[in-house]
Amino acid sequence: MATERTFSILKPDATARNLTGAVNAVIEEAGLRIVAQRRIRMSDAQAKKFYEVHAERPFYGELVEFMTSGPVVVQVLEGENAVAKYREVMGATNPAQAAEGTIRQKFAKSVGENTVHGSDSLENAAIEIKQFFDEKDIVG
Ligand code: ADP
Ligand code: MG
Repeated sequence: MATERTFSILKPDATARNLTGAVNAVIEEAGLRIVAQRRIRMSDAQAKKFYEVHAERPFYGELVEFMTSGPVVVQVLEGENAVAKYREVMGATNPAQAAEGTIRQKFAKSVGENTVHGSDSLENAAIEIKQFFDEKDIVG
């Protein structure tokens, strides 16, 4: 296993309920290090581009609307096997199917408003990190 970086978003349902600290606690307890973090409002163009792989899915419009509905916290997480580790810590997309102790089981409201995003591959992690961070702002 190697040290990896993955990209994370605390979604608007998390910031709206003041859950950024509670979610970060789960991330840090899992051994992932938050090496960059910024609170932003995603523009419509940013959200559309970020989720363009889902452009043909029926929930795309709703997803873009949700991601731009309030502040989000974008993060870079670092650790051993960080991409797969964070997917495990997040839990299943649908909170009803998320394992006990995962972020989505603890906090998510629905399959759409599911508290966190995490990259699904090392390749996508690099692409997503570049969309929101300069290398100089990532402090490992
Ligand atoms: P994940 O975030 O677990 O990688 P996907 O890549 O399949 O999940 O979907 C991206 C995001 O789109 C989800 O996190 C969720 O916010 C939203 N989404 C996925 N499926 C649905 C659905 N059936 N209805 C509404 N929103 C959805
Ligand atoms: Mg995904």
